[in-house]
This record gives sequence, C-alpha cells and structure tokens, in this order.
Amino acid sequence: MKILVSDDVSEKGVEVLRAQGYDVDVKINLNEEDLIACIGEYDGLVTRSMTHVTEAVINAGKKLKVIGRAGVGVDSIDIKTATAKGIIVVNAPTANTVAATEHTCAMIMAITRHIPQAHNSLMAGEWDRERFTGIQLQNKTIGIIGVGRIGSRIAKRMQAMEMRTIGYDPYIPEERGKQLGVELVDLDTLLRESDYITMHTPLTKETRGMIGAAEIAKMKDGVRVINVSRGAVLDINALAAALKSGHVAGAAIDVFPTEPLTKDINPFLDMDNVVITPHLGASTKEAQIGVSVDVAEGVIAALNG
Ligand code: NAD
Repeated sequence: MKILVSDDVSEKGVEVLRAQGYDVDVKINLNEEDLIACIGEYDGLVTRSMTHVTEAVINAGKKLKVIGRAGVGVDSIDIKTATAKGIIVVNAPTANTVAATEHTCAMIMAITRHIPQAHNSLMAGEWDRERFTGIQLQNKTIGIIGVGRIGSRIAKRMQAMEMRTIGYDPYIPEERGKQLGVELVDLDTLLRESDYITMHTPLTKETRGMIGAAEIAKMKDGVRVINVSRGAVLDINALAAALKSGHVAGAAIDVFPTEPLTKDINPFLDMDNVVITPHLGASTKEAQIGVSVDVAEGVIAALNG
C-alpha cells in the first residue's frame, strides 16, 4: 500500500510507516491541483497544517482509505466528504498540547513586557526604558475561552503567576471548573471581567467568528487578547481597529483566518502593541516527533482495519 506525506512532518513518523512495510512518498508544497493529480495512487494521506484536503482532493483519491492529520485540528480536512466516502480521518490530538500551551504563555509574557519591541529597539541602538513599561500578571484576571486540553493547562500555569482564572466553556461540567480552579462564567461576563482573553476552542460552526467587533466592544478598556487556537475564531480586522483606537492594549496572535499571512492581508503592520508568530504553537521538537509518530500509528491502525 502507498502513503503520501504532503506536509513537513517529522521523519520519525515516516520511519514508523516504512517499518510497517508501507511505500511512503514525501512530497511537500503541493498545491491543490498537484495533489488532485497524484492522490489517485495512494491508500493513505498524511498532512500537517498546510495541506487542505478539499472535496475535490478526496474525490480524486480513488484508493484513499485514511487521511491523517499530524496535530489536533481537523478543520483543514473536509470531514463530511471523507466520511461519506468511508474514508477514516485520524488526528494526533495530544502530542502538541504542551507545546501550544507553552507558546501561549510565551506570547502572554511577550505582550505584557513588550519583549520583542524592546529587543528590536535595543538592536537598533536605542536605550529606551520609558516606552517599554509593562504591567504585572499578578492579581489580573485571565479569561479562557475553551477550557479543554490546552485551556486547562493555561489555567494551571497562569494560576502559578497568581492570576484569577475564569473560563467560558459550555461543554464542561461545573465540577471540572472547580477541579481546575477556574470559575466558569458566561461569555459576556468573561468579556467584561478579563484583563487578558485567550482563545482555546476548536474551529467549528459555532466558534467561527465567535470573537468579532461586537464581542471586542464588550471587553474592558486596556484588555489584552491572545489567540493560539484557530485564526477564524477571531476577527483580526476588528481586533486591529480596537488596537488602533487603544481600547485593546495589546494582542498576541499565532493563527490567522488565511495562512500564510502575507503582507497585503496583515492588518497589524506597523503596530507596536502586537506580537504575531507564524502558527508556531505546535513547533517544538518534542511535539513534532510526537504528532508524527501518533498520526502514523493512527494511519496504521486504520489501514489494518
Ligand atoms: P480540546 O478539544 O481539548 O479543547 C477545546 C475546548 O473548547 C473543549 O473543552 C470544548 O468543550 C471547548 N469548546 C468547544 N466549542 C466551544 C464553544 N463554542 N465555546 C466555548 N468553548 C468551546 O482542544 P485543544 O487540544 O485544547 O485545542 C484547542 C485549540 O487549539 C484547537 O483549535 C486546536 O486546533 C488549537 N491548536 C493550535 C495549535 C497551534 O499551533 N497554534 C496547536 C495545537 C492546538
């Protein structure tokens, strides 16, 4: 059987597949057309976040039995079409949890103490201490939207910074909030009371565009907004407007509605109260090995029936 790996996943997972006797081709940076042209010969497809497995790709995958996603979010795969065709979709939901959590923490610290801006200023030969006065996390409130694997770990880490942690997640029981020390509230309360708001939901019909201009308007003056979940959860143009007006004091964004985020669609250019990273949440050595091995095992299990 033949498997196509169409994104840059760790070699460890490829080794796991080859050790099982599969014929594995690694072809990265294929566009949709290229993928449609070659997918017909493969029984399995392994992706990370760059490949969009569209309806047309799935329809061209005449022999396709399994699609693997080395990571948690499967919003890059047309699950409906895959399911209708009896194609199994497997992901690797846990191996990058800590990586995404730690990246979120790094982003929170970076916007709180202006670390990238201060670094750039010093590298440009300045010694400007006034401009980079930060605030303290201690005694501030962080609102976590989506208290799942990553959201709950953010709570634990931010509690260590002596922050009050509140959360909005209609799908977890009150009891779970208590265990985590997270006060569960409705979305409006979270928006109103938080000094920091961080998003950790999957991208679903419900969460697409969940935080737009109306929600941002309800946030506290001087709030800081962080998104390391999925780009389309947050309206970045509305956020950019609120950063410009000063209503939002800072933002840290790792994921964007359209990726890669090119200069012509980047609403944050020239803003010095923003830290953006190119979808680096899962980019640690440990997480990349973990997700590639996990997805390889999932693909093998699916192909073995
Ligand atoms: P998870 O499934 O463990 O947790 C998601 C939580 O969101 C769940 O508790 C769920 O109940 C909650 N939720 C669902 N719909 C909601 C809604 N409408 N309102 C509020 N809460 C809602 O997922 P996770 O592993 O914690 O991942 C969270 C997000 O982080 C996903 O979008 C994932 O794709 C993203 N992620 C990004 C990176 C990155 O590189 N930036 C890396 C890993 C994960």
